[in-house]
Amino acid sequence: MSNITVCARFRPVSSKERRDHGDTICIQNLDAETFNFKDEKEEEFTFSFDRVFYQESEQADVYEFLALPIVRDAVNAINGTIITYGQTGAGKTYSMEGPSILCCDEQKKGLLPRVVDGLFKSIKVSEETAKYTIKLSMVEIYMEKVRDLFDLSKDNIQIKESKVQGIFLSGVTEISVLDPAEALQSLSSGIANRAVGETQMNMASSRSHCVYVFAVQQDLTTEKRVRRGKLILVDLAGSEKVEKTGAEGRVLEEAKTINKSLSALGNVINALTCGPPSKANHIPYRDSKLTRILQDALGGNSQTALLCCCSPTLSNASESLSTLRFGARAKHIKALARVNCKEDKYTKKQGASSVTEDESHERIL
Ligand code: ADP
Ligand code: MG
Repeated sequence: MSNITVCARFRPVSSKERRDHGDTICIQNLDAETFNFKDEKEEEFTFSFDRVFYQESEQADVYEFLALPIVRDAVNAINGTIITYGQTGAGKTYSMEGPSILCCDEQKKGLLPRVVDGLFKSIKVSEETAKYTIKLSMVEIYMEKVRDLFDLSKDNIQIKESKVQGIFLSGVTEISVLDPAEALQSLSSGIANRAVGETQMNMASSRSHCVYVFAVQQDLTTEKRVRRGKLILVDLAGSEKVEKTGAEGRVLEEAKTINKSLSALGNVINALTCGPPSKANHIPYRDSKLTRILQDALGGNSQTALLCCCSPTLSNASESLSTLRFGARAKHIKALARVNCKEDKYTKKQGASSVTEDESHERIL
């Protein structure tokens, strides 16, 4: 059993924060894992995470610590999930995409383009023994509806579960990508579609959750086996409290729904940290679309990393504190990731070969 990797990241002070509030910083870094946090009431807290990325941290540092081990394992058929959490403006999308998904500045590239590069590089190393296919899907969860970002007409994707695939998005568009450039183009078109939907629904991207799924299939031809790894990246909706936005009517309803899935996420984490799932300890994955999609990531068959994004300034201290507390709770979850490996029996049926699947081989990490 391994714990979820939980990291905190503080973005640089924004010009707005500098202008409106002065640049009072509410964190004091102690080392790479621990810092002190002082809120508006001068109350002091000490937090420890697997790694803390301070304001001057580089995108490459975040990738190498948080994502690279998960990417390497995805190529070896171990599921992985990377989640960014935090209030709107805290740096979730910047961490995930960079300034833009097609950004050419090596230093500023976000997790997604680096994951794409890392996946294809890892595959190249193992190409002699296996044939790989990578398929990409992108969905958005908004008001408890899952929308396909590669085909906006599919606006109510159902989440299902099977023995072979685990949790999966039924009927979602999967794009086969052959190289990093193709993958980035597809990601870019999904992100552009997200913006189209936002205009149609009069919604800001900060109010929806964006889910990127890389399905990596490895055909070990000589051994006649198929192995599958799924890498999921999630850019969550802003975690800020509803009251702060001064929302009314439909916007308030919307905010409540978003908070419903984020609070469902909190409830799942609470339930998981109370001990292993049992009859007495029901884990409420089915309470929201988000927790259902993340079922494997949280306490299931996945290696998971959570990046808690925060502003470093006092004016955002209460939201940052709730983000950091969320991360501190998630730290206690134990996950059980295994190699998803199927023995393939190529049984000839009327000239065609069909694959039957055995039970998976489990490897406890
Ligand atoms: P979120 O997705 O959490 O709402 P964003 O990622 O959009 O927040 O970040 C808000 C603003 O802060 C953006 O203008 C972004 O470019 C900037 N920003 C966030 N993190 C960093 C960082 N580590 N370095 C530089 N700028 C950042
Ligand atoms: Mg964002």
